[in-house]
Amino acid sequence: MSQGIIFDISEASIHDGPGLRTTVFMKGCPLRCRWCHSPEGQSPEPEMLQLPDGSQRLCGKVYQAEELAQYLRECAALTPEGGITFSGGEVLMQAGFVKDVLSRLPGIHKVVETSGAGKGQDLLDIAGMCDLIYFGLKVIAPADAMNFTGMSSEIILKNLHALDLESQTEYILRIPLIPGAIATEKNFKALMELTFGLKRLRAIEFLRANKLAPAKYTRCRRKFAPEFADCRTGDIPAFFTPEVPFSILD
Ligand code: SF4
Repeated sequence: MSQGIIFDISEASIHDGPGLRTTVFMKGCPLRCRWCHSPEGQSPEPEMLQLPDGSQRLCGKVYQAEELAQYLRECAALTPEGGITFSGGEVLMQAGFVKDVLSRLPGIHKVVETSGAGKGQDLLDIAGMCDLIYFGLKVIAPADAMNFTGMSSEIILKNLHALDLESQTEYILRIPLIPGAIATEKNFKALMELTFGLKRLRAIEFLRANKLAPAKYTRCRRKFAPEFADCRTGDIPAFFTPEVPFSILD
């Protein structure tokens, strides 16, 4: 049986798929987005967080696949209209464990949220085991992506196209509206071009940055990038008229 490391489990999420959901946050992410709202999810290792009252909390708990699956089955039984969502960090960094747990959740609505930064086959395998994918797209131009997220967008875009062509599972693009990085004219034009012709794209959801992100950096003993202090002010330009519905989640 596989084991994985998780940095949080939220038992009453309303923005992570249909209905009331239990969301599992997998620890570890290969990206380093300069506005990251989950800095405690970036390292794949457990780490101590500094709490405001001066105490410390260990962030990152190891679960066996069946141990987590049993807990998630119990949660799902309480919310029959909802289901289970895997988020991160980056789910694809622990793909074997996630597949193991997903296989133990028959009859439960399952959603996986990914940045697409991982092995394409893992993404396709996982998509085949769940009902919906949230694909967290960010900066599209490869050099800009390298600058703002620490990784070129090439693998991510390749995986997005593979998901669209080779999987039967529908997906929603989730895009944070970060001014100066994502919510730029250049990036929106690239996004329009990218989304035309995608077959299984159901919708686009834009996200406002998490108000609590700066405090999370303090807990990780890191500084929030000052150029993104106004990161909730990004907007959608009038020329953005994709073929699928779009909305802003606050
Ligand atoms: S993909 Fe998500 S978790 Fe990873 S660095 Fe970017 S914002 Fe943070």
